[in-house]
Amino acid sequence: MLDLARIRADFPGLNAYVGSHPLIYCDSAATAATPIPVVAAMNAYYLRYCANVHRGVHPLAQIATERYEAAREIARRFLGAADRREVVFCRGTTEGINLVAQTYGRQQVRRGDVVVITEMEHHSNIVPWQMLCRDKGAVLRVIPMGSSGIVDLQRVEDALRRPRTRLLAVTWVSNALGTCNPIHEIVQIAHRRGVPVLVDAAQAAPHLPIDVQAMGVDWLVLSGHKVYGPTGIGVLYGRLPLLSSMPAWQGGGDMVRDVQLHRSECHAPPAKFEAGTPHIAGAIGLAAAFDYLTGIGWPSVVAHERLLVQRAEEGFSRLSGVRVLPPRAVRVGLVSIALDRYHCDDIAQAMSNAGIAIRSGHHCARLVCDRLCVPGTARFSFGLYNTVEEVDACVQAVGQLVSRRAA
Ligand code: PMP
Repeated sequence: MLDLARIRADFPGLNAYVGSHPLIYCDSAATAATPIPVVAAMNAYYLRYCANVHRGVHPLAQIATERYEAAREIARRFLGAADRREVVFCRGTTEGINLVAQTYGRQQVRRGDVVVITEMEHHSNIVPWQMLCRDKGAVLRVIPMGSSGIVDLQRVEDALRRPRTRLLAVTWVSNALGTCNPIHEIVQIAHRRGVPVLVDAAQAAPHLPIDVQAMGVDWLVLSGHKVYGPTGIGVLYGRLPLLSSMPAWQGGGDMVRDVQLHRSECHAPPAKFEAGTPHIAGAIGLAAAFDYLTGIGWPSVVAHERLLVQRAEEGFSRLSGVRVLPPRAVRVGLVSIALDRYHCDDIAQAMSNAGIAIRSGHHCARLVCDRLCVPGTARFSFGLYNTVEEVDACVQAVGQLVSRRAA
């Protein structure tokens, strides 16, 4: 059981009012609230040992470097990676995917080759591959989403059967529906066919423990701001042999070992992919967020969030004129609904008027909404700080909305 009173004290931003209504924050899938220890860790960097990393011999530079590299070690543990050199700090999921597309993709994908994604992807796991395929004359194949809101394993087999398939990029958890792909099986299928896999773990990371070695995944990306960390920082995990063979992406200071007039020599990973001054405070804050989450304990987090999601799902399903999308599914972290008589934006506005912060629209996952034949959804997404009472208030507010229209 989570000590919710203690947890909520760590998130003072949640104790706000919207007009006369206490804020109910159900938009954590967009960005989670930030706990005090994360802000304190970032403040400590700026106020006590602000200096650049890797370059100075003075004490502040040494402390900053030590804390930045300690953050990498904490991230390694959070991901279950074997080696801290497999952890690259980047701006977030979007940048991590673009990095792989622009390095491995540019190096390995040729005219007529195939890159495979799924219909469930966030735009940031679609557009970088479209750009790559357009530039290279390659084919982008899209695995359809099944009626239960995940990809069917047979469809994965079929899509990867085609020769010259160079990469599969797939989300673990859908940001629009919360549905959860059988990611271990997907990686196994791809590897049987010799296809490397990039997993978008942006929505999985706050809700499920990650073990990149058990998954056997080749690359995995996540964003700090979805796991109670700062914005502008994230992690790209890559298997060391892959990172070592990938060309550098951005050139600049810190990523080069030697520079001559007409040529330069890169450092080994991860420095190779971290050109310029990194987001030092961000990495330190992200490590504090990882520590915060693991300090609370995954079994309690998972059990509490399962309770919230089940309660929301059951509550919404009981209301006539409300559809939970998709109706029966294994989902984590969020529940998306559509109402027969309301546009999703009108639901979000009505919720906002009641102090409930949700997100409406296609959630940067247009293909998902097209498949479900809806313009968008109203998404109630939860964090470890949400309470059962808050979920009940959401259901009640939606119930009032539908009964108002029916009257
Ligand atoms: N993938 C998924 C599944 C997401 O939910 C998001 C954020 N909504 C992203 C990628 C992009 O993350 P970011 O904007 O932090 O780069």
